[in-house]
Formats: sequence, structure tokens, C-alpha cells
Amino acid sequence: MSNRYFNRFLILIVIFSSFSCATMTVEQEKSVSEDFEKSVKQNFSMFHDRVVRDYVESIGRKILSSFPQSSFEYEFQLIESEEINAFAGPAGKIFLNTGVLLKAKNVGEVAGVIAHEIGHVVRRHVAENYSRKKPVAIGKNVAIIAATILGGGRLGRATGMVGGIASAAYLNKFTREDEIEADAFAIQALVDAGYHPDGLVTFFETLLSEATTRPPEFLSSHPTTEKRIQSVKLLIASKENLADLIYTDNGRFEIIQRRVRLRMGLESVGIGEPVY
Ligand SMILES: [Zn+2]
Repeated sequence: MSNRYFNRFLILIVIFSSFSCATMTVEQEKSVSEDFEKSVKQNFSMFHDRVVRDYVESIGRKILSSFPQSSFEYEFQLIESEEINAFAGPAGKIFLNTGVLLKAKNVGEVAGVIAHEIGHVVRRHVAENYSRKKPVAIGKNVAIIAATILGGGRLGRATGMVGGIASAAYLNKFTREDEIEADAFAIQALVDAGYHPDGLVTFFETLLSEATTRPPEFLSSHPTTEKRIQSVKLLIASKENLADLIYTDNGRFEIIQRRVRLRMGLESVGIGEPVY
């Protein structure tokens, strides 16, 4: 671990240990969010495409506009990875892998994932996650986080974890109740924003059909995925007036999806074909 990383590691231990007794305040959560964001950017390959990022941001803003006010300035950023994953950092830092855009069948599914992650932030699950730990456990876990996020792949492998993805998964290790709450939040937020909440269900089903050894954050193991899909379906069935809600956005999603494939080199443009 270089001196720079080691100093940051010590700072994080102090910050997180100081939150061991009570849930972080909004201000405390904001104070750790920048370090979290820097760590993610040091260890993940970010996807820098203004058009795609604006598109994801527009979905996030639409969802956020469905509830009155927020304590945080939300930010939606993209990680270049075919792995299907998304996670919430402190104070509204939401990260979405391009794999979500590649695998989703429509904008409603992407909105479902984003709404779920916003739910974790709004309900203060990230803050509670730190506060729930005992000081010793926090020290140990921060060491793992530091080794994986801050130390990069080499130290990450030394701890038996796989780089920043494992760290983000740790930071998003929510309880069963948290996941249910985030799903319920997402369903209502989607309805209020004009998206059909079935997108959440169909994306879960797509994920189930994928052979994956490590379920992504929004499909983490509690409760079991099948049960979770059932409970989400029941919640949706209790909602009224869903007929006019949208899954699609007049072809915009498909254009964005193709742009991601082209940018990631997963598809080449034929001669005479338009480049979006
Ligand atoms: Zn979740």
C-alpha cells in the first residue's frame, strides 16, 4: 500500500469508527461521500460518454422528481463493465454498470434498478450500514474495504476478494428488511414517476436466467430471489391505475444501448450505417 493510500486508509478508519454508535447524520454521510467516490474511480473503469450518462441521469432525475425534496445532491455515474451491477454510495452517489444498460430490455427495467438504489439512499440504509457495526468489526471491515477499493487488485486478491466490486458489495450489504424496503420504495417511486413497475420484475427475471456466481447488489441473497420476485409482484398488484405507465421511450433506450455496445467495442459499425 503506498503512503497516499495508507493515509487515506487511516482517515477512513477514523471516519467510520466515529459513526459506530448512532446512524450518521446527513452531514456526516456527505463528508464521506467524496472519499467513497474517489475510491470507486481509482478502482473501476468509468464509462465516459456524455450522451449515455445524460440519459441515465434523466431517468434518475425523473424518479427523484416524484418525491418532494431530498437531503442529498444525487449523482448517477457509469462504470464500464459487462457485469450486471449497480450500487449506492453515501449521500446519493449512485453507480451503474454499463452491463445493466446492455442487458435491460427497456427503459422501465433501467428505471427499476435506479429506483431501487435511490431507495437505499433515501431510507438511509448506507448510513445505517456503517452505524450498525461494532467498532472492532468496523476496523476489520474498513481494512478489507481499504485493501480492495483503495489498494487495488493486488491487495484485494491478497484478502481473497476481487477488487473494488467486492468492496462495493460490502458497502451495500443490506439486511433483508432493507432490500424489501428499497423494493417497496422503488415500486411507488416508479409509479409516481410514470414508469411501469413491472420493469423491476422483468429485470429480476432476466438476472435469474443469467448464470452468475455472484448475485449483483440488487439481487443479493436476502430474501431468496424467487421469494423476492413474488413479493414485488404482490406489491405491484396492490397498485391501481398502472395501465398508462410506460416501459419504453420511443426508441431512445435502443439508441443508447447500441451506443454503449459501439463504445465498448462489442459491435462494429457497418459501412453506410448511421453512428449514433
Ligand atoms: Zn438493494
